[in-house]
Amino acid sequence: MHEMSLCEGILQVLEDNAKSQQFKKVKTIWLEIGALSGVEIEAMKFCFDAVTRGTLAEQANLEIINKPGLAWCMKCSKNVEVTQRFDECPDCGSYQLQVVGGDEMKIKELEVE
Ligand SMILES: [Zn+2]
Repeated sequence: MHEMSLCEGILQVLEDNAKSQQFKKVKTIWLEIGALSGVEIEAMKFCFDAVTRGTLAEQANLEIINKPGLAWCMKCSKNVEVTQRFDECPDCGSYQLQVVGGDEMKIKELEVE
């Protein structure tokens, strides 16, 4: 599962941060997930629970921040919001869109102790 390796990556980042910033426990993680990232939020939560069991992030709250997909429309010459990678422009219906944002996943903030 794609989400499983993402969660393992997150845990790695948390453990590295714990070493450099000397915290022992992660209480809350705010995770920003773009609409075009292809990440399933439910799967993410499930995998996160499984991956963090017995680690510094066990019982941490996973807060998801949804970020809309953003694409540049060549016809409109502006950024438009899209929900899928191959959506048409909501304004003019053109398919000549270039994704410019909302295709990534990152840790936005951590609450630790
Ligand atoms: Zn357009």
